[in-house]
Amino acid sequence: MSVWALLAAAGSGERLGADRPKAFARLGGLPMLAESLRRLDDSEWIDSIVVAAPPGWVEPSILLAEEIGAGKVSACIVGGADRAQSVRIALAEVPESAVVVLVHDAARPVLPSDVIGRVLEPLSEGWDAVIPGLAITDTVKRVRGEEVAETLERDGLVAAQTPQAFDAAVLRRALASGVTGTDCAALVEAAGGRVNVVAGDRRLLKVTTREDLELVASWL
Ligand code: C5P
Repeated sequence: MSVWALLAAAGSGERLGADRPKAFARLGGLPMLAESLRRLDDSEWIDSIVVAAPPGWVEPSILLAEEIGAGKVSACIVGGADRAQSVRIALAEVPESAVVVLVHDAARPVLPSDVIGRVLEPLSEGWDAVIPGLAITDTVKRVRGEEVAETLERDGLVAAQTPQAFDAAVLRRALASGVTGTDCAALVEAAGGRVNVVAGDRRLLKVTTREDLELVASWL
């Protein structure tokens, strides 16, 4: 079974306030992208990797992969206007023979190796996709401007993380359908697919602000 990893790193990350795209913000002396790339490359589960880089950052991505010895990187491509488009373009580099595709955000640099195994396992039981989810401990409210509109039922709510694992054919069909969403599992759900949720990991925090970056740096 060949497993391809798509690393979504093409976002601009304006909220971080850096002078470069988020995936290239410094984390422990290297661009943030290096951390998740190295962890995917080191994983026994992963056979090949495609990186979606921001416009103008393909060459630096290739050089970075060489620098850290990430030999499983088979392509670095320019991503698209939104995350789904970046994944769609990256998926075009994956051969039809690939059975499983793992999609991960470069903005979640701390990728524990056991999470990769955890999301891959249920695919063999017939699920179309598998996501890591974290139970929400705060009370969640929908707001309109500065006014609370409603309080959501917290039971049964999880925060969806990456890496997300997919039956390759299911992901191809979901992306081809043109629907869009903030994660790939949402596309599969919209296409009628069955998505399994396994335990997430707090270390998979998505870096959005400078404080997030400092917190993640303190874990390394
Ligand atoms: O913007 P946000 O942090 O939610 O993006 C999640 C991930 O998707 C990031 O790793 C980002 O680099 C990636 N992304 C992408 N292409 C885009 C927008 C975001 O690969 N056009």
